[in-house]
Amino acid sequence: MRRLPIILSFALFATATLAQDRDFSKVEVKAAKVNGNVYMLTGSGGNIGVSVGDDGIVIVDDQFAPLAPKIREALKGITDKPIKFILNTHFHGDHTGGNEIFGRDGTIIAQTNVRKRLASGSTIAGRETPPAAKSALPVITFDESLSVHVNGEEIKAIHYPHGHTDGDAVIYFTKSNVVHMGDDYFNGTFPFVDVQSGGSVKGLIANVDKVLTTLPDGVKIIPGHGPLGDKPSLEGYRDMLKGTWAVVADAIKNGKTLDQMKQEKTLAAFEHYASDFVTLDRWTETVYNEVSKEVKPETQGP
Ligand SMILES: [Zn+2]
Repeated sequence: MRRLPIILSFALFATATLAQDRDFSKVEVKAAKVNGNVYMLTGSGGNIGVSVGDDGIVIVDDQFAPLAPKIREALKGITDKPIKFILNTHFHGDHTGGNEIFGRDGTIIAQTNVRKRLASGSTIAGRETPPAAKSALPVITFDESLSVHVNGEEIKAIHYPHGHTDGDAVIYFTKSNVVHMGDDYFNGTFPFVDVQSGGSVKGLIANVDKVLTTLPDGVKIIPGHGPLGDKPSLEGYRDMLKGTWAVVADAIKNGKTLDQMKQEKTLAAFEHYASDFVTLDRWTETVYNEVSKEVKPETQGP
């Protein structure tokens, strides 16, 4: 009997947390001009990139379905033109949740694996997502790259394999000099790497390195999460990824276990990247799980 209130309060807490997660009534969707034809929308979930011009609107990612009216309202503040194309940087629900609404207005375009994962449903970090509605599925898919020629520029989607997931695309607004990196870039925090969906830390580092070689100076970078970035901020992120990899590799060579690394805060120098979502411990574990496949403790024998 005495345990009941504890269980109850836990259940209430869990419900409250869930309800809070799902309550979008207080979310504000705000638009800010980035460069050229391109704007960035922030609200809840992944940042949205927007191209506006005579041909209509192209949006890159669309957050959550309940936010669709607020996203529309924010777009109305920029232009009266209709939505023509929706590009998805990857399949996660905080980037594709609005597909089922906006897919009725425009054509959804994504990398092949995005469609596969949306169509089949998936488990992300232990949470199950059911198969997406038909209107949420990409109509046009590509394996490597695809271009949309609208609003006076080439909007180029390029697939970068096995980074955040196995279906990531980086979107280049070539004339506006803006890039949307999707979740291959968390600006200012440790990233979530969806290993279960084909993501990898090593692949992520390779992707960011490669993207950096393609970026012109002065480029503005819309990250999947976090504030607008630029080339120096992306370089800093790349250095953090490589830095944490190197520190964990050294610790493994010195015989440290994952538990010891957590206890001793092996990655303390990078603690300012920790968030509620990806804590220092979680990032240590993500990196450890991968590095430990390649790096082994150096045996100290005679
Ligand atoms: Zn994601």
